[in-house]
Amino acid sequence: MKYVVVTGGVVSGLGKGVTASSIGLLLKSCGLRVTSIKIDPYLNMDAGTMSPFEHGEVFVLDDGGEVDLDLGNYERFLDVTLTRENNITSGKIYQAVLENERRGDYLGKTVQIVPHLTDVIQDRIQSVAKVPVDGTPNPPDVCVIELGGVVGDIESMPFIEALRQLQFYVGAENFCHIHVSLVPVLGVVGEQASMHCFSKTKPAQQSVREVRAFGLVPHLLVCRSAQKLEDYTKEKLSQFCDVLTSDILNIYDVSNIWHVPLILRDQEAHYAVLSRLNLRSICIVLLPA
Ligand code: ADP
Repeated sequence: MKYVVVTGGVVSGLGKGVTASSIGLLLKSCGLRVTSIKIDPYLNMDAGTMSPFEHGEVFVLDDGGEVDLDLGNYERFLDVTLTRENNITSGKIYQAVLENERRGDYLGKTVQIVPHLTDVIQDRIQSVAKVPVDGTPNPPDVCVIELGGVVGDIESMPFIEALRQLQFYVGAENFCHIHVSLVPVLGVVGEQASMHCFSKTKPAQQSVREVRAFGLVPHLLVCRSAQKLEDYTKEKLSQFCDVLTSDILNIYDVSNIWHVPLILRDQEAHYAVLSRLNLRSICIVLLPA
């Protein structure tokens, strides 16, 4: 099993879900079976009890699971049927740990975030990743995992630590970390090339530094920006973030999110992910040019 983990920095609502769905679609177009997991670090068991004014509409899965809207993106982009298990929340993880503790499974040990909570997170990810979701009995080849929220949030720390441990457990060639960050473009005329206009790489540099400090080194960096970034912006980010220029991808604002997989395909995001996952040899891109 190969894992593609998508994290985000700077602000929420950057497009991690759209990025994860689009990468999944590109991998599917290369002939791989793809599933996905959305991690929501809140303590609610699911999104069913959360105000739509605060959280957006709930997405209801075929099994009745009330989950984050991102799961809807995954189902539509990947043409799969997910279950409530594909949405992991802190609430579900804590409940599992506390049930284990009440049953006496920990045999008198002090129950801690590390290793008990992080072990449950890793077990849950690995068991959900194996479940077929495309209507065939075949298990997926790749599991795209989106970590909700922003790296550095106190709620997401156990998940970051669990993912850090998972990358060592599954091995480097089975784990690709994509970090999504914001690159604001500031300027009076709104043009990046103008003398009065600059794309600001500092927020992205800082979020990469932060996620690296937690032991999750980004292999690909996705820069969300209002406009298409110039090559020199990517070169600067590459220099400061230790990510190859070819592994720095730009998702700019589009009128319709269905354009995002095409933007990523044009930047050969699939080659970058497949190379990291040692799957370059199987690549047959079926997406129309
Ligand atoms: P996150 O998962 O980081 O919270 P989402 O993927 O849910 O973010 O995206 C947040 C919102 O931004 C959604 O309404 C989505 O449709 C929109 N969005 C994402 N990427 C783009 C883009 N490149 N252009 C325009 N809108 C986008």
